[in-house]
Amino acid sequence: MKPLIDKHQRTHNYLRISLTEKCNLRCTYCMPAEGIPLMPAAHLMSANEIFEIASHFVKRGVDKIRLTGGEPTVRKDFNQIIERLSSLPVKLALTTNGLTIHRHIDVLKKANVDVINISIDSLDREKFKKITLRDKYEQLEENMNLLDAQGFRLKLNVVLLKGINDDEIIPFINLSKDRNWQIRFIEFMPFDGNNWDRSKTVSLEAILKTAESHYGSTQIERLKDAANDTAKNYKVEGFTGSFAIISTVTNPFCDSCNRLRLTADGKLKNCLFSSGEYDLLSSLRNGESFDREIDIALSNKFAARAGLDDPNAFNNPENHKDNRSMIAIGG
Ligand code: SAM
Ligand code: SF4
Repeated sequence: MKPLIDKHQRTHNYLRISLTEKCNLRCTYCMPAEGIPLMPAAHLMSANEIFEIASHFVKRGVDKIRLTGGEPTVRKDFNQIIERLSSLPVKLALTTNGLTIHRHIDVLKKANVDVINISIDSLDREKFKKITLRDKYEQLEENMNLLDAQGFRLKLNVVLLKGINDDEIIPFINLSKDRNWQIRFIEFMPFDGNNWDRSKTVSLEAILKTAESHYGSTQIERLKDAANDTAKNYKVEGFTGSFAIISTVTNPFCDSCNRLRLTADGKLKNCLFSSGEYDLLSSLRNGESFDREIDIALSNKFAARAGLDDPNAFNNPENHKDNRSMIAIGG
């Protein structure tokens, strides 16, 4: 079957599937304060439909699938979805806020999900509550220790917000001292309803400067990034784990983009920042092929950030209003 190559000659082998728009947290940078209108359940992909669409992408060359959301683990059929997808020849990955992950340890092990991306934006209970609007820090801490003890490798996603948690860069990096964890600092990105403005984003440069002034610039080693890695990887000399910076705002990495995104209602998005959507689920339900939609999505994919490659255009929040909120895209 035809590989997933766009007109900029990028091959797409990585599919991120959002399982739900629901979440048990209310992170202020992700979900609008007023919430989002939830879609009727019938509009969402069933476990079977997820499997059918994913299988088709695998035939077209996808070899990595990440489950995300909303919070993927709040779906009642989460275990069933994992079990079915694990029968495909893909590397399965998961991004979760970790609050209910203790219920899924066995199924994740059986599916060979050995690395788990956990989102945690503060190591301080009060600040965690302020960012997520829920008092759940202790549950998350307990679950991170459980995953660690069960042999999973953790990657911690930290969205840095200026003046809120950017004083925690060093405490987060210190978590990688004795454990093989990767701390991933993510630049705060603009989406509909998240009150983004450029001044709230903590840049790659600022994060590195903080690390260098604390540990000494000769103590920070630049690691080799994996192919198609969105993160720039570093390590503090002598630490077991590493840290990384995902600089979508200040240093985008679109040249090597290999990702496509499927929303929980079965729409394909060719870029995080594109408001364009291609309805695969309706075609599937009508008994039709959805290859045409996939091919149009690929041919419409811009070289960089959905055509907002000029920083002035990207930095204008007005240009992100037609896109979904992050919670409804699946980060
Ligand atoms: N609920 C899961 C979680 O929090 O890990 C999965 C979905 S969440 C949308 C996926 C990732 O997107 C999380 O690491 C989250 O921190 C990140 N994210 C959400 N909104 C963001 C924003 N505006 N800028 C940067 N990252 C964001
Ligand atoms: Fe929920 Fe994840 Fe968004 Fe937080 S970042 S509101 S945990 S989907």
